[in-house]
Amino acid sequence: MADYRVPLRDMNFILYELFKADEIWQSIPKLAEQVDRDTAEAILQECAKISEQEIAPIARQGHEVGVGFENGKVTTAPKYKEAFKTYTEGGWSALGGDPQYGGMGMPKMLTALHEEMLCSADISFSLYPCLTAGAGLSIAKHGSEVLKEKYLTRMYAGDWAASMCLTESHAGSDLGLIRTKALPQEDGSYKITGNKIFITGGDHDLTENIIHLVLAKLPDAPAGPRGISLFLVPKINVNEDGSLGDANNVSCGSIEHKMGINASATCVMNFDDSQGFLVGELNKGLTCMFTMMNFERIGVGIQGLGAAVHSYQNALEYAKDRLQGRALTGAKSPNKEADSIMVHGDVRRMLLNMKALNEGSRALSSYIAMQLDYATYGTGELQVKGEALSALMTPLAKAFFTDMGFESTVAGQQIFGGHGFIREWGQEQLVRDARITQIYEGTNGIQAMDLLLRKVAGSKGGLMKVFIDEVNTYINESTGDNMAEFIKPLTKAVTDLEKLTLHLLDKANDDINELGGAANDYLHVFGYTAMAYIWARMAKISLDKLVTGDDFYQSKLHTARYYFARLLPRRISLIETAKSGAEVLFNIDDEMF
Ligand SMILES: Cc1cc2nc3c(=O)[nH]c(=O)nc-3n(C[C@H](O)[C@H](O)[C@H](O)COP(=O)(O)OP(=O)(O)OC[C@H]3O[C@@H](n4cnc5c(N)ncnc54)[C@H](O)[C@@H]3O)c2cc1C
Repeated sequence: MADYRVPLRDMNFILYELFKADEIWQSIPKLAEQVDRDTAEAILQECAKISEQEIAPIARQGHEVGVGFENGKVTTAPKYKEAFKTYTEGGWSALGGDPQYGGMGMPKMLTALHEEMLCSADISFSLYPCLTAGAGLSIAKHGSEVLKEKYLTRMYAGDWAASMCLTESHAGSDLGLIRTKALPQEDGSYKITGNKIFITGGDHDLTENIIHLVLAKLPDAPAGPRGISLFLVPKINVNEDGSLGDANNVSCGSIEHKMGINASATCVMNFDDSQGFLVGELNKGLTCMFTMMNFERIGVGIQGLGAAVHSYQNALEYAKDRLQGRALTGAKSPNKEADSIMVHGDVRRMLLNMKALNEGSRALSSYIAMQLDYATYGTGELQVKGEALSALMTPLAKAFFTDMGFESTVAGQQIFGGHGFIREWGQEQLVRDARITQIYEGTNGIQAMDLLLRKVAGSKGGLMKVFIDEVNTYINESTGDNMAEFIKPLTKAVTDLEKLTLHLLDKANDDINELGGAANDYLHVFGYTAMAYIWARMAKISLDKLVTGDDFYQSKLHTARYYFARLLPRRISLIETAKSGAEVLFNIDDEMF
């Protein structure tokens, strides 16, 4: 298995050549105070070091050994404690946090790349700090001053971790069904009682305290999602002076034995009259949780990308070394027993699919992160547009990057032939780890429904129009002949996306099932089109820089051409299926299945 190497050159290309991130940061006062290019470069370099040297090397053993559970206590995989200590001592838990409480206030454009590095190194490890960062965002946005003072500083310091407790055995996608109860107390706190399942990092030995964000309902709350509130429930109670007090009746009942992310503790959590504190307003818990969930959804998208990047690096190294067969055009290495498998069209197809999807996903995730930064720190029109595009593209990031990421991990495994199926090579771990990213944090089916029903139909196409207008403006400004090979198919793709959107909205007037049936295909049509927009922009820069003779731009341009030739056309069959109508799905009785 190749050692993981952070693709820093590509990350810097995306930040400074594609999006001119340094200029964006300088133009937004709240960000200009925190970050400039020198700081950002130093951060990414240091993060690359810790990901390559401290985290990636512990991933295989973590996969093999997994998590321990004895006498109600969870122990993490070997070397996790040491790596987590190094991570927190480096200040990484504070990276995106609110500066008022000890955070570093770095923009999402930077933290997204940091997340990619962590996830390429080891998704299991990444989950502990990433969930804590997500919970921190929710507390910073919706928590009272008291909660922020008491908990955020310790979470940013890495002393305490956090978990997200939504799922119950009978309530997954449909959180309106949850049964966990919150009873108001005279001192303003609540007693929380209920059982949550599948809780990532619900218990572990990395930190002295774990701060659970728990969804629960008051006894008189309205039925369904409108009756859900959010509570902060510490594993160990925290005294007024910030010291740790008694245990808070929070226990781990068992841990799950899973297909992948073996070194991430997935826990059944029991709350038994545990003391909790309201976050945000009563019955507005889902809104508060969505601050965390939207952060996590993009983060989960990046997990898919992270695994795919590592898989590509492994597969490329293997393909260059592995000698099997001869090139169809005659031996390429006549003095060797056989040519390397790099000579075979099918292997090149898989490698180029991975390369084009990975670099495209990285650039697109940075674009979405940029919109989140505009939404969070910007003002005026840029903020409004940032809010629109980040809302529209959050489900896309989660589902499209993880579907593409899983495809890429499988392709990387395939390039290894039989060895890809054997554990010691590490490719099967990446496939196993990537698979969950399509399921948790709202399945990809739920993401597709969120995109088409809530975001697109809910705004009567308005949010999608914001994206389409931006692409059309770019097309109109791209007049040079040398860009025609990209602009022509991009124009067709974005026109077709607009037509498909109008077609589905129209059909939904007669039958809402049209949206449910088309949602997954629609999300992918959007994904391939959005990626084409970003690839066209990367191709433009590469064409302009070809004179430098730098192979990086040659490779980028070629990969753009590959994307347009071999991946963008996938949208055509997806449009056909999206338009095929709901009847073929619903006109069959359940008994006939
Ligand atoms: C390893 C792991 C870690 C996890 N970590 C956490 C965590 O930290 N915190 C937490 O709270 N939860 C966590 N989860 C739970 C996870 O988020 C849920 O499993 C997931 O959201 C799906 O819920 P479910 O399993 O109940 O499936 P269900 O909701 O029962 O869905 C079953 C199927 O029906 C489909 N479906 C359901 N409703 C709809 C709909 N309206 N439209 C279209 N399709 C639909 C789904 O897409 C899916 O294919 C974790 C799960 C796992 C396996």
